[in-house]
Amino acid sequence: MRRSVSGPTERVVIVGAGLGGLSCALHLAAAGRQVTVVERESVPGGRAGRLVVDGFEFDTGPTVLTMPSLIEEPLAAVGERLSDWLELLPLDPAYRAFYPDGSTLDVRTDTLRMAAEISRVCGPREADGYLRFVDYARKLWLLERDHFIGRNLDTPLDLVNLNLLKLLGMGGFRRLHTKIGQFFRDPRTQRIFSFQAMYAGLAPHDALAIYAVIAYLDSVAGVFYPKGGMHAVPRALAGAAEKHGVEFRYDTTVTRVEVSGGRATGVITEDGARIPADVVVLNPDLPIAHRDLLPSAWSRRLRFAPSCVVLHVGSRQPYGGIAHHNIHFGAAWRRTFDEVIRDGMLMSDPSLLVTHPTPDTYYVLAPAPNLEVGPMNWRGGLASRYADSLVRTLEKRGYVGFGAGIEVLRIVTPADWADQGMAAGTPFSAAHTFGQTGPFRPSNLHPTLPNVVFTGSGTQPGVGVPMVLISGKLAAARITGGGR
Ligand SMILES: Cc1cc2nc3c(=O)[nH]c(=O)nc-3n(C[C@H](O)[C@H](O)[C@H](O)COP(=O)(O)OP(=O)(O)OC[C@H]3O[C@@H](n4cnc5c(N)ncnc54)[C@H](O)[C@@H]3O)c2cc1C
Repeated sequence: MRRSVSGPTERVVIVGAGLGGLSCALHLAAAGRQVTVVERESVPGGRAGRLVVDGFEFDTGPTVLTMPSLIEEPLAAVGERLSDWLELLPLDPAYRAFYPDGSTLDVRTDTLRMAAEISRVCGPREADGYLRFVDYARKLWLLERDHFIGRNLDTPLDLVNLNLLKLLGMGGFRRLHTKIGQFFRDPRTQRIFSFQAMYAGLAPHDALAIYAVIAYLDSVAGVFYPKGGMHAVPRALAGAAEKHGVEFRYDTTVTRVEVSGGRATGVITEDGARIPADVVVLNPDLPIAHRDLLPSAWSRRLRFAPSCVVLHVGSRQPYGGIAHHNIHFGAAWRRTFDEVIRDGMLMSDPSLLVTHPTPDTYYVLAPAPNLEVGPMNWRGGLASRYADSLVRTLEKRGYVGFGAGIEVLRIVTPADWADQGMAAGTPFSAAHTFGQTGPFRPSNLHPTLPNVVFTGSGTQPGVGVPMVLISGKLAAARITGGGR
């Protein structure tokens, strides 16, 4: 039996309309609970927000959408069809990789076309390795999805079963870069199929091979773009939730969870209002929820993922050779991860993601140290100096006249993520080290309050749109006692 919330569960208040909170709301509405979502912003989405500046519109957070079936799931729970709420366009190529030697590689979802592309750029032996990798990563994903990611885990013992042995047998607990080296010889393919470790907050030489599934999800299972931008995803989920009776209170900040007799009894909002609840679900970043909203201190030390700097650029300057997602690799590789993750330094030879979703917007993401490893004074002019240096780097990497074409520029730094309530100034939560993965990651049940549940990237299963959608379902299962 999985642990679940004790006592009445009829009225649920969810703090936060991030993707975790929204997924949880839909699953709870489907189970007949009376759900109120309290969100401090005027719109849903949290990190998947929308920025409008002088007529230019930008997605503020995620741009790489994988696994649409996980958006389908909470909608299906209330009997809604994804296609009635969202139009998802598959991206082909999913990414275009640009290497320092001037070569490029298009990452295609279709396995045979991708093998042909790898053969063109790196030769046929590398293409064979790719086909073996796809086979391996697909098996790994199915195993992890069914037995480790999509279920509530109460203790490490929950993992001890035949499937753990299978995972061990597949080399899942070896280092990712070692595993990738068994399939790929060319540094270019090694990079394109292992850089995703950064999404889990780690370098490929530190991450476990189980994270090869991230490369599988985006490079093999496909990347999509919702018509209207990524923010259309939370809008769709919120719209469906509202239709099915979930009450939304926007522009309302929760200041604390009210506790009485060892249980949460409701939440108190900034204007002093009390919203009673049988169960409270917390979607804000987990360490910050403990610090700001809950009564007793929480002392667990976490190792946080690296952060990022994002430049939102409005520009009508076109660039012929680019795709929707473009990864510009610097020549440095291991050193880049060491600088950002271990040494708390800015990249000396940046690797950058440039997303170009509409003809007049560019979204430039540069990995950067979080504020614990690299406590930099972002407010003291560093933000604009770093933005200038990133623009110069892009100009050298083929974006000729990029600086001159800028009509609108917004710079988001780790200091801004911290201001938005993200621990250590990173939007990517606790890193997925072994000790912070699966049952070792902070639980979605509060350690002492039996009716407080967490959802979102700070809890299990982890970071990223697919994982937080699953976290909403797992949080709901803790309340309804259903599911796995
Ligand atoms: C720049 C960037 C790039 C990313 N790229 C990708 C990507 O390409 N692909 C991918 O899969 N993932 C990506 N991610 C990660 C992904 O966006 C997150 O993991 C996910 O959106 C987090 O969702 P969440 O529900 O955990 O939290 P959040 O989205 O942070 O939701 C929490 C909600 O709680 C609200 N809130 C907080 N405190 C209070 C309070 N006191 N009272 C009321 N409301 C409150 C917040 O306003 C927010 O709406 C990216 C993130 C960022 C920032």
